[in-house]
Formats: sequence, C-alpha cells, structure tokens
Amino acid sequence: MQFSLFRYDSILLLFLFLCFFPRACFPARITPEQITVTTTGDTHTHKATWFNFTRFKDADNGSHVISGMSELKRYFQRFGYLSVRNDNFTDVYDTQFESAVNLYQKKFGLPVTGKLDFDTISTIMSPRCGVSDSAPTKIHASKHFVYFNGRPRWNNDSASTTTPMTLTYAFSPSNMINYISLPEIRTAFKRSFSRWASVIPINFNETEEYEKADITIGFYGGDHGDGEAFDGALGVLAHAFAPENGRMHFDEDETWAVDFKKAKSKLAVDLESVATHEIGHILGLGHSSVQDAVMYPNLSPRARRRELKLDDVEGVQALYGSNPNFEISSFSESDNVSDKGTGLVCRSSNWTLSLVVLVFFILLVIV
Ligand SMILES: [Zn+2]
Ligand SMILES: [Zn+2]
Repeated sequence: MQFSLFRYDSILLLFLFLCFFPRACFPARITPEQITVTTTGDTHTHKATWFNFTRFKDADNGSHVISGMSELKRYFQRFGYLSVRNDNFTDVYDTQFESAVNLYQKKFGLPVTGKLDFDTISTIMSPRCGVSDSAPTKIHASKHFVYFNGRPRWNNDSASTTTPMTLTYAFSPSNMINYISLPEIRTAFKRSFSRWASVIPINFNETEEYEKADITIGFYGGDHGDGEAFDGALGVLAHAFAPENGRMHFDEDETWAVDFKKAKSKLAVDLESVATHEIGHILGLGHSSVQDAVMYPNLSPRARRRELKLDDVEGVQALYGSNPNFEISSFSESDNVSDKGTGLVCRSSNWTLSLVVLVFFILLVIV
C-alpha cells in the first residue's frame, strides 16, 4: 500500500516538475504567435516595423536573397551589431550578416547558430531599450556588465570631494503622461533611484528646477530632436544618455503602467522597471547579457524587472565604489546569475534535470 501511494505521489511530483520548471525558467517574451494577440484590441497604434521580421524566421546564410532583409540589417546596425559605416545594405544573407547574428545571439544568451531561428526572431521583435548594445569597454571576461565608450561617470567637480555625491533630478514641466498621476510617477522614480543609491555613494534628490537638474525625465513621441526618434507602441521603449548628459526619455506612445492590476492593456509596460534600467545608463552602465539583470536590454509587456542583480551592482560599484551601508550578503547566491546568463544553459540544464528525475522515477517504479 505504501509503495503504491509513493508511486502515485512520485508520478504526480514528476508531472508537476516537468510542467512547471521549463516554464519558470523562461522570462516572458514576445513570440511570433503572440504578436497577433497582443496588437489587437488596443487603442495605441504602433509604427514599429519589427513585427514584420517574423517573415525572416529560419533564414540562414544559405537563404540567399530575402526581400526586405536590408531592413533587418539596419536594425542590427542600429543596435551595434553591424558596422555603422556600411549603410548600403542588400537583401543578401551574407557572411557579414551571419557574424552579426552570431554576435547578437551571444549577447542575448541564445544558442549561437548564425540562423534566424525562432528564439532569435522572438528576441529581435521583443520591446527593448533604444540604447545600442555595442560594448567596447569590457573589464573582465567573467562579468557581463559593460560601460559606454571611454567609461564615462559622474564626477563630483562642483562639490569637491564631498561624499556621498548628490545628483538632482527633475520631471519635464511639459512632456509628461496624464493617465498616471504625477504622485504615482514620482513614487515609481523615487524607488528606482533609491535602488541604485543603496549600493553606491550617490544621493538622488528631486528638484523643481528642471533647467538646473543633473538628470531630466520626460515622455516624447516620434522624432523629438535628439536623432533617436521613438517608434510608437512597443519596439523601442525608452533611451537615456551616458554621463554626464543626464537626459532620460520615455516613448509617450507606450502604455505605461505603475500597477498591472490597474493597467489592463496587454501592451502595458512597467514604468518602474524601465526607469531603473535607464538610470543605469545615466550612471554609465551599458547593456548586460545577464537575462535577470536590470541592465538587460529587453523587457516584455506586463513583465517586471525592477530589482538590481549582482551583475548590476558589481558594474555600478566598479564606477563609483560601494555605499558604506551596502552589504553584499544581502544579495543571495541565487541572485548571482552572471555565470548562467544564457537561455541555452538555462533550458538544457532544466531538461537534463528533468531527464535525470524521469530516469530516477522509472527506476523506482521498476524496482
Ligand atoms: Zn538600455
Ligand atoms: Zn530622446
């Protein structure tokens, strides 16, 4: 009796394990099948053309000419995977493009196949930050965080050597969204700034004096005068500039949300997650290849990634030092994902585990 009960439980456990873990492993991301669902029934129009990229699925170097491929090459150029000098792109899947695909897959922790497979195309179509992924300054091979070219950071010129440094931030008096209240927006940004302030010796104070603020925050649509036009709902969500520029811009055509319980849209984007990410750029961090890190470039609709991970902390502390009150022990081992930043590793290890468990239970049943 005991044996059969155990067997029943085992099978149930095995079933739950197989069902649950592979799903838990993957962060939500847009897939070609989901696109048709997420774009219907929403009032926002999207001008982004990334959804058309689904037609390139399964293309590789043997595919020769594919109509419209030059558009995808421009995407790769924009985000730092193809030479900026070459903008006379053809529709040929050539060796240079294959190398760019390889680079992209490596950066995003995908299996490096050089092919536009399902996962790669899904990742390409996923909403993301507008800052380029090109990363010339990599300080250590085992780390995934990166800096902007020349490793710029804020310096404490005006306040001599005062520690901690204080940076002020202000919201644009004219370029804000009106469907979330200002107090809610202010609270979201306050929390985002405080996450960074808790790990480095910098205080962030809000000021009313927009013109004098170190960091400025605003919502803009389409071409807004800095050469980095926004593209409507999804696509590029926001961008920010390297130190000591201080400008942080959010695409006003997104359906921004501070609380997914209130925001019902399938396209809702978590403002606090994106704000925390853009502050990372303001401080000097580039894009990380760690999928859990705040500095990972992509964020799916209705997903949250607000909390700093060890990779973010190590990156920003290498620029500014540690906040005296910060304790590394508050970041558990589970936060240390810098050595398993790839979906491939994540997926294969789960399948390996599932297989081991399956064999184990079959043996139990037989014995
Ligand atoms: Zn970014
Ligand atoms: Zn801008």
